[in-house]
Amino acid sequence: MASTKFMGLLLAVIHVAMSKVEVPKISLNDGNQIPILGLGTYGSAKDIARMRQAINWAIEAGYRHIDTASLYGNEVEIGQGIADVINRGLVKREDLFVTTKLWNDKHARDQVVPALQESLSRLGLDYVDLYLIHSPESEKADGTSANIDYLETWQGMEEAKRLGLAKSIGVSNFNIEQIDRLLANSNIPPAVNEIEVHPSLTQTDLVAHNQDRKIVVMAYSPFGFLVSRNRPSAVSLRADDPALVKIAQKYGKTTGQVVLRYLIDRGMIPIPKSTDQNRQRENIDVFDFKLTRDEIETINSFNSNTSIF
Ligand code: NDP
Repeated sequence: MASTKFMGLLLAVIHVAMSKVEVPKISLNDGNQIPILGLGTYGSAKDIARMRQAINWAIEAGYRHIDTASLYGNEVEIGQGIADVINRGLVKREDLFVTTKLWNDKHARDQVVPALQESLSRLGLDYVDLYLIHSPESEKADGTSANIDYLETWQGMEEAKRLGLAKSIGVSNFNIEQIDRLLANSNIPPAVNEIEVHPSLTQTDLVAHNQDRKIVVMAYSPFGFLVSRNRPSAVSLRADDPALVKIAQKYGKTTGQVVLRYLIDRGMIPIPKSTDQNRQRENIDVFDFKLTRDEIETINSFNSNTSIF
């Protein structure tokens, strides 16, 4: 009986070890390293309830990079998942890359560090690897504009980095003009700009503008309209589009995997969200093929400048 149990455990360990994918890393402009694919975590209350288990599955599958935000209301569950995988001996804290974000209602300079400390307390961590300004827009609690300049907010972000509470700092949803203004008026340049990029919103200029300035682009909502967005869309690119299917068949991959690879091959870091173990495994299994320039151009041609948000 005991030996059957032992064999079961051994097989489970072998299964985890064999099916784990190694995600490559790249350097940020501050010298820190970032895995080039991360796990998105934004979702419903049902997703939040599944998040602790989802983090365990993701780490088993090879994910080392987790994207959350104070807005998502899941930092506690993500922290529990991280504690589990460390306690299980699967990883050490330093093997993980954890990103969280400052919400719009905490943009005053002296609110930034306390907001990060609250996120850290929910996550049960001493530091995050990356702290992002979620959006250049500041808001009051009632949702109206607080008119706080993001340059002021950035000073608080720089302080968070100096204090070691965030190893790297960056922004999200910044356009070209905002990036340039920030670069011209900061001591520490942003390491990352996290923006919406997928085949229906290719963002060619904004992506190139960031990359030319050594700012890494993290691509959110990477599947675009390939997955259901619970809203009607006349221009949605479907997962069974013949041109996409043709590329997928060539590599023996799904069209979702092709789209993730497309973003990686354009030098971006996609952060696909899934709380499902099989889909998590599918989404990380994109490091054994590479698209050609023509295939990237084919997917670029789906651009319709259509945002999900
Ligand atoms: P994604 O493009 O990651 O799509 C997520 C949806 O696709 C979920 O419904 C998921 O369901 C489903 N899905 C995942 N994998 C598969 C698959 N292989 N086949 C079919 N369906 C699949 O969209 P998100 O909007 O969630 O973006 C990703 C992440 O980016 C967010 O979770 C968040 O971390 C970040 N983000 C950041 C924003 C910002 O302003 N900075 C804004 C929006 C997102 P299931 O879980 O059931 O698998």
